[in-house]
Amino acid sequence: AIQVQNLNKTFGSKQVLFNMELDVPKGAMVALIGASGSGKSTLLRHLSGLASADRTNGGTIHALGQQIQGNGHLSHDVRRIRSDIGYIFQQFNLVGRLNVLQNVLLGCLGRMSRLRGTLGLFNAEEKERALHALERVGLLEHAYRRASTLSGGQQQRVAIARTLCQQAEIILADEPIASLDPESARNVMDALADINKKDGKTVIVTLHQVDYAVKYCKHAVALKNGKKHFDGPISGLTNHFLNDLYGSELGTNL
Ligand code: ATP
Ligand code: MG
Repeated sequence: AIQVQNLNKTFGSKQVLFNMELDVPKGAMVALIGASGSGKSTLLRHLSGLASADRTNGGTIHALGQQIQGNGHLSHDVRRIRSDIGYIFQQFNLVGRLNVLQNVLLGCLGRMSRLRGTLGLFNAEEKERALHALERVGLLEHAYRRASTLSGGQQQRVAIARTLCQQAEIILADEPIASLDPESARNVMDALADINKKDGKTVIVTLHQVDYAVKYCKHAVALKNGKKHFDGPISGLTNHFLNDLYGSELGTNL
């Protein structure tokens, strides 16, 4: 679903991604791990077409068979490609004053005219799809609550429902459970895993907690100082390797 070739990204004089190569097949669920500052969020933003790489030697990114960017230039139809990619942030980026259903419906915006979206003119099929998405993440009964009154884990599941409503083929989630308690974190990861298994969506999720990566993902990509350090079955992440990856940061995660 996603191919990255020789991606390089520099901020000022500091290079943060080096010769990144990635090939994520359709339907995979991949954990993206690495110490703080290793480049996980930066890589994810590039995959989503939200950021552009270096102008020279920047490499290329393809998603769903289409080029997102090449040598630091976003493709002219990146907006259209982006509508196939759902993005989930650590800080549940919902519109708090809207209700849950309205937030899920916002997922349709990439595929409809701006005017229709601004006016809130969603058709019956879209509303049906949004309600179904809420049912999938176990939040149907909360459809008409203000989004801001939900718990963090519930809000994160609303964000997942929004990507379903968007009919995104690829879901990129950047630390979706970092600020959640264990039970909420499990619910959110269960929802992502369910969508991956039943709908065949490709999921790439950055995780600080390696134990969640091991539990939910078959495949891991590890970054260290902006370079790919590991790319393979999650079972290949030995304790020895993880100690090296995180240094003293590892703590009690295993
Ligand atoms: P964390 O686990 O803390 O979220 P991360 O692996 O997601 O870390 P990134 O946020 O991708 O790491 O950052 C990688 C490096 O790029 C860091 O050194 C960071 O300071 C730098 N960086 C990220 N964004 C910018 C920016 N807009 N301008 C300058 N430097 C940046
Ligand atoms: Mg990050």
